[in-house]
Amino acid sequence: MNMFSSVKKDEKTGQKRKKGIYPGSFDPVTLGHLDIIKRASKLSDELVIGVLKNSSKKPLFSVEERVALLKKVTGDIPNVRIEPFYGLLVDFARIEKADFIVRGLRAVTDFEYEIQIAQTNHKMCPEVDTVFFTTSVEYSFVSSSLVREIASYGGDISAFVPKCIMKDIYEKYNKRTEE
Ligand code: ADP
Repeated sequence: MNMFSSVKKDEKTGQKRKKGIYPGSFDPVTLGHLDIIKRASKLSDELVIGVLKNSSKKPLFSVEERVALLKKVTGDIPNVRIEPFYGLLVDFARIEKADFIVRGLRAVTDFEYEIQIAQTNHKMCPEVDTVFFTTSVEYSFVSSSLVREIASYGGDISAFVPKCIMKDIYEKYNKRTEE
């Protein structure tokens, strides 16, 4: 993580470039995440995807592997950067000097949880707002946990994750069953 990222200004206008951060577990990244990344990157000068190392969750992929998968699927989006982060989101937002946090909303159940987190974060860090993107309907039911469940039984995940990472996901489970 770059601890000293400075505020970048637009060369022509001198205005501060708008930086968004999209935090999450991304265990693994899905087509639903990728849809939000593509849409949010169009509205930001720079979008930093923050991959959370959460000590209370035992992820399928390590934080380094999740970062690598995200790099693979966002390689063609020039203004996207992937960074691991640990601890509080507001601290990561301050280090990055972010203007806003991006989150995705799938259903009413997401909303109840997300509004509480957004309000808490705003209280702790009033200079950063949370911006919500509603899911594209075709991905409204897609989640990392659903992908893990299907892949663990060798089922077809091609409708839920980018093609280029399918092998990585299946290999993870083959490795696991051999252990
Ligand atoms: P977290 O553990 O922080 O919820 P996730 O990786 O599950 O991390 O999700 C990161 C963000 O992406 C959350 O805001 C979540 O609501 C959003 N998201 C996840 N899946 C989808 C989807 N299919 N469509 C839109 N947003 C999604």
